[in-house]
Amino acid sequence: MLAALILLAPLLAQLRPFDQPPLRKALAYLEANHERHLAKQVEIAEVAAPTFHEQERAKFMAAEFRKLGLADVEIDAQGNVLGWRRGTSPDTLVIAAHLDIAFAPGVDVKVRKEGARWYGPGLADDSRGLAALLALGEALNESGFQTRRTLLFVANVGEEGLGDLAGVKYLFQKSPHKDKLKAFISIDGTNPAHIANGGTGVKRYRVTLRGPGGHSYGNFGRPSPIHAAARVTARLADLEVPAEPKTTFNVGRINGGTSVNAIAEECWFEVDLRSTDAGQLDKIELALMSAIRMGVEAENAKRVASGAKVEAETKLVGMRPAGKTAERDPLTESAAAAIRALGLTPSYRIGSTDSNLPMSLGIPAVTLGGGGRSDNAHSYKEWFEPARAWLGPQMLLLTLLEYDSRSMQ
Ligand SMILES: [Zn+2]
Repeated sequence: MLAALILLAPLLAQLRPFDQPPLRKALAYLEANHERHLAKQVEIAEVAAPTFHEQERAKFMAAEFRKLGLADVEIDAQGNVLGWRRGTSPDTLVIAAHLDIAFAPGVDVKVRKEGARWYGPGLADDSRGLAALLALGEALNESGFQTRRTLLFVANVGEEGLGDLAGVKYLFQKSPHKDKLKAFISIDGTNPAHIANGGTGVKRYRVTLRGPGGHSYGNFGRPSPIHAAARVTARLADLEVPAEPKTTFNVGRINGGTSVNAIAEECWFEVDLRSTDAGQLDKIELALMSAIRMGVEAENAKRVASGAKVEAETKLVGMRPAGKTAERDPLTESAAAAIRALGLTPSYRIGSTDSNLPMSLGIPAVTLGGGGRSDNAHSYKEWFEPARAWLGPQMLLLTLLEYDSRSMQ
């Protein structure tokens, strides 16, 4: 703590609107209450919130927002939880963490501890972010800071998978508050030295193949949607993509058929395409379309004697626009200064998070870590290590105050 305070000296000098003792008090508070914030993180994680089923966790967070004393706490039309901490200006900085987890309904969300590691679906992604958001609110209360910008605390829906950023899309494009929202911080991921100031573009497709079906023996010779899907995915798997700008593809889910001895009537699969470059994303999207056409044609050509055909239906089920917040933007610079003040080295990243949406609208946005260490997000092996996890909320507090002191001069 002492070392951290010495390193804080340059930052503290810049935080003229604030007295140093309240800031020290707030930082010390976050370290002293670390165990309690960790317990809150576990409590949040054990309220299941698969994408499209976030209601129960939303109610939990709304109650927490009220305990923090946030004003006008509400669950909006999209299911996002909002709470205000008014500044002297209506210009608003949004600080958000996402409610949803990338698991199907029915998932066992019980958290368990093994040695130094805690395991649980969504325990890090993004229960840590939600707990850090609450810790940040407590630290602001503890210090009594009055910011110039209004702060909007948000626990949003729809960040993962097919949620397609529905929560932030509503907030920034449709909500009655949208015109006041001037900057955005997403707390997602754990490493308190990471700044995601670039957003990867993403397109997601669901491809459904349909055919006549039939008995595997009696109707042999008819085209099969499953065989066609295999031809399509094999073509996709062979695609060459550039390492730089990083461009990727994945068939993440596939499903179809009714029985081992039936020719399937239907098969569907979902494809996730990503690139940090919009042009490369368009290119791989075209490659997917051509793989679908050629795979289906090959299956139909092989079974042409039957007179039956497999047909493909392609539906865009997700799109995250690419975007960037400059390294020299005051928001990015504030995060970097906060990270340095804590004795860490900022590392700039490109992510695919809620920040993509405000970035694509030209609103400064960064995604920052909630503290601790974690890995294996989106799998049952997801783990969280709480070592020095208070650095997350400390970094967020310093970022927020630094930003508030730099902008709106
Ligand atoms: Zn996340």
